[in-house]
Amino acid sequence: MSIKHHINDDTLLAYVNNTLPETLSVVVATHLAICPECRKTVELMEDMAAMYMLNAEPEPLSPAERDIPKILDDGFVREDKEASSAETVDKGVPSPLAERLPVHLDDIPWRRLVPGVSHYPLSLSGGDKTKGALRLLKISPGTPMPEHGHTGQELTLILSGSYIDEMGRFQVGDIADLDDDVMHRPVSDTEKDCICLIATDAPLRFKGLISRMLQPIIGI
Ligand SMILES: [Zn+2]
Repeated sequence: MSIKHHINDDTLLAYVNNTLPETLSVVVATHLAICPECRKTVELMEDMAAMYMLNAEPEPLSPAERDIPKILDDGFVREDKEASSAETVDKGVPSPLAERLPVHLDDIPWRRLVPGVSHYPLSLSGGDKTKGALRLLKISPGTPMPEHGHTGQELTLILSGSYIDEMGRFQVGDIADLDDDVMHRPVSDTEKDCICLIATDAPLRFKGLISRMLQPIIGI
């Protein structure tokens, strides 16, 4: 896999600082699982954060803060067990996404949005970081998506096939990290269905009248 489009540094930094919404975090973690280049950047950011913490003046802990290591230890043990059970089932995608899929990628029960475009919404935890939407999208060969912009951030990771838009060609493993300045109109450009994992932290902004009328119906 030769990855040409990567995650922006600002997004990676927010991921390292644990300030990204859950939807965007899942896409970042899935890309990191297959991209050595972005993993290297994250390691560098984590090392810099650790250096900063080492040089910071320590403040005395309150009684409640003294209990935090024990609570965290318990949590990590539980999460490790959950992660290892998810890894045993091959769903055709990296584990951060596999943990959220009920079935293999080939067996997803797609829901049709418009001719040539289907989606499958993924459920979220409902915690404080839950906002926006996380979904799989399947675009038939040659189908253009409606032209749209964003009121927030949109991350799109290609899982199968490819698409082309104003930013270039996106193939398996590539990620489009777009903010609210960008309007684009992706077109699936091979013989194969283009399947992507898409996260937004706010509703999309459609340009055409028909697209705007359809937005409440298709739910994006
Ligand atoms: Zn990358």
